[in-house]
Amino acid sequence: MSKYQGHCACGAVTYGFDDAPSFVANCHCTDCKRASGGEMATFALVSESDFTVKGETRSFPYPKNTETCAGNGLDRVFCVTCGSRVYTNNLADFPGGVFVQEGSLDGLDQWLPPQVEIFTWSRRPWMPALPVPQYDHGVPATADA
Ligand SMILES: [Zn+2]
Ligand SMILES: [Zn+2]
Repeated sequence: MSKYQGHCACGAVTYGFDDAPSFVANCHCTDCKRASGGEMATFALVSESDFTVKGETRSFPYPKNTETCAGNGLDRVFCVTCGSRVYTNNLADFPGGVFVQEGSLDGLDQWLPPQVEIFTWSRRPWMPALPVPQYDHGVPATADA
């Protein structure tokens, strides 16, 4: 049994990983708004080699878009039964990484606080910033995150 576990809304898709996420971000981009229905989405980065998933999923590919976290392209993965967006993979900008939707983790106590906020250029004015580094687009390659 993995240390961290999560599932979609209906439970048909489950996943797990053992290592604590290396990076947690709130993304305020317009893709995340549209796909999540909220002002932003919270992601936790885990290694593809540590990530196991069960159940039938489908992927929707997002083409290159440097104004959103799609960056140079990625796939957003959802449950075919309930449509919950569960994780993002095949990121051109993060080879070997899987970005888990924090909201799909089994336990609220497994949520880790965001270390950065990204794509703040499209954050709505009524959403206050957290006291963490803010990036109007993605995290610069030189940033220590
Ligand atoms: Zn489901
Ligand atoms: Zn985003």
